Amino acid sequence: MTTLLERIESKRDDMVDLTQALVRIPSVNPPGDAYTPCVELIGNRLKRRGFDVMYYRAEGTPGDTDEYPRMNVVARIEGRRPGPCVHFNGHIDVVEVGAGWSTDPFAGVIRDNRIYGRGACDMKGGLAASIVAMEALLELHPNFPGAIEISATADEETGGYGGVAWLAEAGIMASPRIDHVIIPEPLNKDRVCLGHRGVWWAEIETFGRIAHGSMPFLGDSAIRHMFAVLDAFEQRLYPALGTKRTNMPVVPDGARSSTMNINSVHGGQGEHFSGLPAAAVADSCRTVIDRRFLIEEDITDVKAEVRDILEHLRSHRDHFRYELRDLFEVIPTMTEREAPVVTAVSRAVQKVLGKPPQLVVSPGTYDQKHIDRIGRLNNCIAYGPGILDLAHQPDEYIDIDDMVISARVMALAAYELLFGAA
Ligand SMILES: [Zn+2]
Repeated sequence: MTTLLERIESKRDDMVDLTQALVRIPSVNPPGDAYTPCVELIGNRLKRRGFDVMYYRAEGTPGDTDEYPRMNVVARIEGRRPGPCVHFNGHIDVVEVGAGWSTDPFAGVIRDNRIYGRGACDMKGGLAASIVAMEALLELHPNFPGAIEISATADEETGGYGGVAWLAEAGIMASPRIDHVIIPEPLNKDRVCLGHRGVWWAEIETFGRIAHGSMPFLGDSAIRHMFAVLDAFEQRLYPALGTKRTNMPVVPDGARSSTMNINSVHGGQGEHFSGLPAAAVADSCRTVIDRRFLIEEDITDVKAEVRDILEHLRSHRDHFRYELRDLFEVIPTMTEREAPVVTAVSRAVQKVLGKPPQLVVSPGTYDQKHIDRIGRLNNCIAYGPGILDLAHQPDEYIDIDDMVISARVMALAAYELLFGAA
């Protein structure tokens, strides 16, 4: 195995160049820009290495247009004899730049042994590490059994519908075609991420009746009704959420409880005018909630908690009327600690870092949900370089040594999954 680890070290500069080249393609989502050059960069490279390369446009998925096609690439190389398929999946999309950068976010600047740029950490560095790791493995072990696949996919940041979900529906990123999946999301080089919590987004609207603001008693304020909703959340819901703790090893610790964010509150007149507002009682108020739930919770109960509060107000508060609309939901997923991909990556971390990895669960979701639920494969983890907290931040970076270390882990794990444990 020493030679495999040395081979990866010898490819350090190549890994840096590939990461920089990927960062320099501004594949910002939304709107889903520059996916085509990004997948072609990866596809052309892997084609030269002997992979069969297929491009898939997820036509008709959210945001897919001729200007912003949802492009994906799946590269596959067959071994010399039958065996399992080991699949590495990385998303190519990055979030908007935002303010506060000290470097050009699409230049791929290197400073202090780090590559800076939007997407360097989440997750072009991890994608580059997995590509170089598999290239090193193929150079030293061309007679491998089974198959190796690398996919680069769209739209993870907006739910993955034009990426992994579409490929799973098509049976491509699904059992039985693939057997082991590693997603090199930035969960830190010494952690193996087994899955993620669930999500329920919903919009609540309260209704009132417009009247002159000098005589509010002649109308009915939707904002005051919404305040009653938020107050009930403070009094009843938040204390209850805080007491729910999961056995999932979610990091950071605060996310081991159920949580709920109030994304927005909009009531009364809009603010898109200059001059003074008019005197009017608000006839509508809307809020969007983002509830993150635990594997021990059932989504019907999660929704019922909120519905019960609204129904209680409807029966006890004069003129209270509301609507509750579902926006988005994801069921929690967690791969078993004994799953083959978990044990192989754990053993590889032990070999490379000299200590076992921390097994964790992510507070937010990622594409594993689609592989689990649509692809019906519960042998999937996230493992990759980069510090999770840096994702989506200004001055996002990937540490070059961390990329090399995690590429070594990925190569050793893939070797074990293909050839069996030594
Ligand atoms: Zn990501």
